[in-house]
Amino acid sequence: MPDQADNPYQLTTAELHWYEGDVPASNRYDDVYFSKKQGLEESRYVFLQHNQLTQRWQQLEQRLVHQQQFTIAETGFGTGLNFLAAWQLWRQTAPATATLHFISVEKHPLTQADIARALTAWPELSALAKPLIKQYPSLVPGHHLLDFDQQRVKLHLLFDDAIDGFEQLRNSSHPLFQHQPECAVDAWFLDGFAPARNPEMWNETLYSLVADLSDSHTTLATFTAGGDVRRGLAKQGFNISKAPGFGKKREMLYGSFDPHIRNQQQPATSKLTSASDSKTVSAPWIINRQRGNNGGRHVAIIGGGLAGCSSAYAMAKRGWQVTLLDSSAELAQGASGNPQGMLYTKLSAEAGLLNQFTLSSYMYALRFYRQWRQRLGRADNSKELIDLCGVLQLASSDKDQQLLQTLSRRFSHCPELIQFLNPLQATTQAGIDINCPAWFFPAAGWVSPPPLCHSLASHAAIEKRFNYDVQSLEYDDEKRQWQLNGSKQSLRSDAVIIANSRDAQQFSQSAYLPTKTIRGQISLLPAGEYSSDLKTVICHEGYLTPAINGLHNIGATFDNGDTNTEIRNSDHQRNLDSLGRAMPTLLKNIDTIDANHLQGRAGLRCSSPDYLPMVGPVANYQHFIDDYAPLRKNARAKITTAGSYYPRLYINIGHGSRGLTSTPICSELIAAALNQEIAPLPRALTTALNPARFIIRDLIRNKI
Ligand code: SAM
Repeated sequence: MPDQADNPYQLTTAELHWYEGDVPASNRYDDVYFSKKQGLEESRYVFLQHNQLTQRWQQLEQRLVHQQQFTIAETGFGTGLNFLAAWQLWRQTAPATATLHFISVEKHPLTQADIARALTAWPELSALAKPLIKQYPSLVPGHHLLDFDQQRVKLHLLFDDAIDGFEQLRNSSHPLFQHQPECAVDAWFLDGFAPARNPEMWNETLYSLVADLSDSHTTLATFTAGGDVRRGLAKQGFNISKAPGFGKKREMLYGSFDPHIRNQQQPATSKLTSASDSKTVSAPWIINRQRGNNGGRHVAIIGGGLAGCSSAYAMAKRGWQVTLLDSSAELAQGASGNPQGMLYTKLSAEAGLLNQFTLSSYMYALRFYRQWRQRLGRADNSKELIDLCGVLQLASSDKDQQLLQTLSRRFSHCPELIQFLNPLQATTQAGIDINCPAWFFPAAGWVSPPPLCHSLASHAAIEKRFNYDVQSLEYDDEKRQWQLNGSKQSLRSDAVIIANSRDAQQFSQSAYLPTKTIRGQISLLPAGEYSSDLKTVICHEGYLTPAINGLHNIGATFDNGDTNTEIRNSDHQRNLDSLGRAMPTLLKNIDTIDANHLQGRAGLRCSSPDYLPMVGPVANYQHFIDDYAPLRKNARAKITTAGSYYPRLYINIGHGSRGLTSTPICSELIAAALNQEIAPLPRALTTALNPARFIIRDLIRNKI
């Protein structure tokens, strides 16, 4: 297996030995994950009891529903025992309307099989262990979001080093903006092997990160009573006490955070002087201190396509009242209106930001659609709405085949995510002749976007208004509300999400965005005797789907800058030609098809210059230009002004032809920001998605 250093997709997994049957111990740290007889009791005693979770969770009942959230963060996910113990207590004590957000970082994850084996020790947790094991992510680095109990319990698993992982959850690496009280952790589980065996993790940097992510209500507990740990945490503003340890252990530590003590001990400005020379962040433009929060929880969402409907769903499930507006008479009338959309991803050998986003969004989308499929249950027509039948991506060119070889080495440890097939294997998988090697994404497939949009927008908290053409957005400073002015009517709301694709440019606030319009036409191809054997989606430069109701979708054309949505027979012919080139055997069968008699659909995709969507708060363009003007002369100019963003105005556009894959995680990202939760993606990615990146880029290039 390649080493992690050469392979950005590889993790160093746990190296275990087992004793007393099924109790795991780490070879690397020479320590046990839990004690056989009393591991669960110890977990309850140290972490649950000393963070007073029973009392705190019972008291959530007295809060307004939207304030009934609780965040735990843990160092060392290990077997997931602490998570399961917390989840079990949550079920027993928290109100049914509350949401638990459990963040855990793990540098050396166990395999799914090892977790399953370890958790057999706790039969009383088996009802919770089963869904955890089922959803347990592929072993690739990054952030993995898992949902349980109808999304009332969220597990945010970071496969990363604790320090690197938590660092990416802070607002900024800039010393003035590291502390983020607006979305702090409520309780810390400081686990991890004993400090003496794991000194790389237990250190001042970790304690400082823990403090950055804490606020006056934050508590912590840890099994260790080490003097260095106690002093290190106290230095960061924690009031630390000792309690008797569990079982034979003499003592343990618990405590609560006091931001005032921390500020007295280490004012942010002193950190600035010491760190600003070495830190690379020169302009803290990504900092969006949530202004304009009037406490109201009504959000208006402009655009009823995939981005708008998934944003509406993400907000509604957090207890917000949503008004979803669309200028057409129906949902999914734009690019989201195609009958079958591809759910898959395209990976490159480099693990740059684009690729990290592609992989993270794909893995989240798979979970999201599996859950949607479950919710559909046995609906008669469910086979017409979604089929996760696998996607084969053909590697027909030399360049593709080289990439295929590289990726097959890099992903050899994740066959559930991606496999590499020779032409014969690909043919067996597809059910029809394939004459080149291919990537196979076994969990991928297709989804029909219009019924998906209807289903997401059917949440009781979402009110839909059609033929509503929002023409401008105005902020009322006094009421701290937005006014959405339509041609005939207007509407007020506490927050706004712009999700109307390329039409976002009509608003003065988002007009600066460098959107690109790309026309795409699909064709509906009658299933022939040969093609109806097709079992998976085939992707080449276009795609071919298994038939539903006797029709395959083929597509799509790609015409940059063309804004015409009329169907063209010449484009049907282009789709047929492209399919024929990729699959010459099929060509014999489709040769007789007359492009002039095909049906199809043309839509306009909205993309961005760097192919990443534009997702995040909307920057005040003029303020940005003024505040960051020094970047024109010096890209590393030291500026200490936070980004100036419109109050509670967000945008979710630029998904190109990958909206099915990218919109679920992007909508979660925006909903988490509006709801003041810790972001579900690392800061490097939220920065890469933030639409203000284009203002910064243009200032640095001296273009504006
Ligand atoms: N909380 C776990 C449970 O409920 O099963 C047990 C944790 S086990 C005692 C310690 C875990 O910390 C191991 O899984 C280990 O791989 C992880 N770990 C050690 N050093 C780490 C680091 N620097 N960053 C993240 N995780 C680390």
